[in-house]
Amino acid sequence: MTASSPGMAAQQLHLPELPLREIMDGLSPSIFVGLLTPDGKLVYANRPALEVVGGRLEDLIGQDFAATPWWNHSESARRRLHAAIGLACSGVASRFDKATQDCRGNLITTDFSLLPLFDADGSVVYLIASGRDVTERQQAQRALRLTQFAVDHAHDAMFKVRADGRLRYVNDAACRLIGQSRDTLLGVPIHEICMQITATAWPLQWSELKARGSLHFASRLRQSSGREIPVDVSVSFLEYEGEEISFVYARDLSERVAAQERLRHLGSHDMLTGLPTRALLRSQLEQALLVAERFDSDLALMCVGLDRLKRVNATLGHGAGDEVLRVTAERIGACLRKADTLSRIGGDEFVVLMPADAQAALSHVAQRILSAVAQPVAVETREVFITCSIGAVVAPGDDTDIDGLLKKASAALGRAKSRGGNALHLHTRDIASQEPERLALESGLRKALARSELHLHYQPQVDLRDGSMVGVEALLRWQHPEFGNVSPAHFIPIAEETGLILPIGDWVLRTACETAAGWQRMGLAPVRMSVNLSPRQLQQDDLARRIETILIDTGVAPQHFGVEVTESTLIDNFEHAARTLGQLRALGIEIALDDFGTGYSSLGYLRRLPIDVVKVDRSLVPDVAAPSEDVSITRAIITMAHSLHMKVIAEGVESEGQLAMLVANQCDLIQGYYFSRPVSADQIEGMLIDAKRLPAALLDGALRSRTLLIVDPECSVIAALRRLLSRDGYHILSAENGAEALQRLAEHPIDVIISEQRMPGMSGVEFLRRAKALCPRAMRILLSGHLELESIAEAINEGAISKFLTKPWDERSLRAHVEESFRHKDMLDERRRVEVEVQAANRELVHLNERHLQVLQTQRDQMQRDQMGWAMAQDLLDNIPAALIGFDDAGTVAFMNSDARHLFGSPAELHGRHASQLFNAALLDVWTARDGVRHVVTIGSRRYQAVCRPLKESAHAQRRLLALTPFNGSQALA
Ligand code: C2E
Ligand code: MG
Ligand code: MG
Repeated sequence: MTASSPGMAAQQLHLPELPLREIMDGLSPSIFVGLLTPDGKLVYANRPALEVVGGRLEDLIGQDFAATPWWNHSESARRRLHAAIGLACSGVASRFDKATQDCRGNLITTDFSLLPLFDADGSVVYLIASGRDVTERQQAQRALRLTQFAVDHAHDAMFKVRADGRLRYVNDAACRLIGQSRDTLLGVPIHEICMQITATAWPLQWSELKARGSLHFASRLRQSSGREIPVDVSVSFLEYEGEEISFVYARDLSERVAAQERLRHLGSHDMLTGLPTRALLRSQLEQALLVAERFDSDLALMCVGLDRLKRVNATLGHGAGDEVLRVTAERIGACLRKADTLSRIGGDEFVVLMPADAQAALSHVAQRILSAVAQPVAVETREVFITCSIGAVVAPGDDTDIDGLLKKASAALGRAKSRGGNALHLHTRDIASQEPERLALESGLRKALARSELHLHYQPQVDLRDGSMVGVEALLRWQHPEFGNVSPAHFIPIAEETGLILPIGDWVLRTACETAAGWQRMGLAPVRMSVNLSPRQLQQDDLARRIETILIDTGVAPQHFGVEVTESTLIDNFEHAARTLGQLRALGIEIALDDFGTGYSSLGYLRRLPIDVVKVDRSLVPDVAAPSEDVSITRAIITMAHSLHMKVIAEGVESEGQLAMLVANQCDLIQGYYFSRPVSADQIEGMLIDAKRLPAALLDGALRSRTLLIVDPECSVIAALRRLLSRDGYHILSAENGAEALQRLAEHPIDVIISEQRMPGMSGVEFLRRAKALCPRAMRILLSGHLELESIAEAINEGAISKFLTKPWDERSLRAHVEESFRHKDMLDERRRVEVEVQAANRELVHLNERHLQVLQTQRDQMQRDQMGWAMAQDLLDNIPAALIGFDDAGTVAFMNSDARHLFGSPAELHGRHASQLFNAALLDVWTARDGVRHVVTIGSRRYQAVCRPLKESAHAQRRLLALTPFNGSQALA
């Protein structure tokens, strides 16, 4: 089909007749009609169309349609028109939306179409342009799209629900909230999501909604994960085009609820540990009391207080203290039963509430807490040792009100603490009756000294190098007329609290020194006397001077005297304690740190103090049967103390096993029941006379035969090995299992061990591992027919086994291996011996050096004081209104004050001059007379009163002082 020319078409086709035009013009104002020639010239436009552009037909007719005002708005619309004209000429209709700016400047959108009009031949003769104003429709659509967008992207979840309860629409927020895609959610019944709605109640709920028009309630929505989230729900009902629908808006409240929860939690929980605080504890306790009453059950309240947290704060800072608290809270929590609750009610106080079956479980739980808290706490690179005390009360007891119970638990805690801590004290009904006992002790203690109820016992301290007794510790004993022997652990705290410790402490110091002096007078080998000092004693400003006086009075040399202080003594007033200990050290007194390991125990921190000896508390002195970690702790303390040039005494050594472990780990001294209990002075005297000592066989490096231990469950194997190896002259011991072998190790110094792997109870590897911890230098050979390669390889790697040999053995090779092991052991022993000697020499050197520095410092201080004193005296003399001249033994000028300098000239001229070179005859007479009588002399033209006296305090009688004061004649001469 080709387009005909317009001219031709005009001739062939009649223009629309008038009625048709009228019809066109009379169309709705929103319907526009026009006619174009195929080449796009306007032939006709109806009135509504003309009104849009405010033009007249005769002005526009024949114009290129694309250039008429209908197309003035956009270039792209014009391009689309040209394309449409092209298409229409080829017989194809076009339709598109276009925008036109009307004559009033409004933008109207037209649904425009261009259709070809064909003649009878099928040629395009005209193009019919028609348009419909769709501005409103389009605006409505836009608004709808916007609304849809807004709904889709709304923050709150929205669901469209029909009467059948199924979801017909969900927005993005709803998908997110439920955690499902839109496709999955559509069609799902609302009751599967909303907890407030049930399938059976839905029809009723729908009716209610219809009746009320809208609903508002709080509910929970179930997420796909099953989690429920709190929501605020608004539902509105709508009837639209005959359809009943509801829109459900749900606002996620989980954050708000969580925030409220957090706030509530913060108000009732401790920030540091996250535990409930006192307020919450009270309500928990209230509930528990009600329950206990209703079910006639009991409950217990435990007050757990950390012992000496203050010291951790003071020495390591509050960060460390916080860490200790956090860890402690966790550890206590882990010791509790399911129903028990834990709260933190103060700086270092926790409360455990055991709501049921409390009495039976109480002591078990308390013991677990005590030992859990006593484990070291790692704070950065350090280990902090802290313990706790527990005060407990069981309800219903003598009263059941909350405050009463808390008070009783707290009082019981105080009692546990006052007895040294790390213990449980249970409040009992008759706790009050214990007060009188305490009062009786207190008043008894006041009289104890005067009534001679106090006396001292002495416990030997033994040197592990040669087993000899090198010292004793004085331990106070009180024989109470009524209570009998009262333990110092019981009465020393009372003495400390009441201040009675000061007179008692003085008595102890003097009595101990007198006893030591008595032994010396008897010609016994001098041993060091050690005395315990309490915190109050150490706070005395003049303690060093008091002790020095006692030592001088009794004639005990400072190097034969020592003091023992505990960490708590030091930490309560660190600077002061350090100063006093420094003064004692300067006197040559040995300072020991007592009970090391029970308190905060950082040797690094203690190195700032002048400590000579660390006394390892007996809780850290393990036996042979102890796990190897325990031995490692002791060994670490010993090594560390040695590196700080301190000696180590192990306290509370009761068994051969402990002794063997300590000898093998290079402990320097021991004290404990194994050697002797604390005994009277007379008994010590006996021991000194007998030169009691540890058997040499138990000591290291003693001259003894090479000892071999064979461990095998088969007697025949032991016998065969004995036969074979006894040829080489070894002293041979044997054991049939690990436990027995450990016992042998405790009893005898062993050089080489041969052990089978497969044994009842403990495997060979495990036994050798423990043997290594106990006696690190003993050589350990595993001789086994059983190849348990993995565990053996592990043991070899960690050094628990020095050799691994297989059964059956080759005799020559086994003997060679054993011999080599003994040689290696000899070498280690020799190295250790040298090490010990070097260590001792070093220690001595360090101490000498320190003492030397201390003496120098004391001298320097004295000189400084002298200088200051002299300067002050000079000042004073200069201000006396008289001329003063001092002479030395030779009669030469030693000093003169300012008036004297005015009178006789500058000191430079006069210093060292003899009196005879300075004075006239009259003055020289006075000088020579040295009689203290006032004489009148004339110097120059003035008269003076002159007095010369010998310097009385001086041992040198020739020294004298001459004083000259102006004389005005009326003064009376003395
Ligand atoms: P401490 O200074 O650590 O004394 C060692 C304690 O351990 C003594 O207890 C001693 O009898 C005990 N002990 C020694 N060897 C063993 C052993 O092998 N096994 C066991 N289980 N215990 C052993 P004691 O005499 O009851 O003294 C207790 C504490 O009382 C002393 O501990 C000391 O802190 C204090 N104390 C004793 N006398 C005095 C004193 O005169 N002044 C001061 N301020 N405190 C004193
Ligand atoms: Mg002591
Ligand atoms: Mg001790």
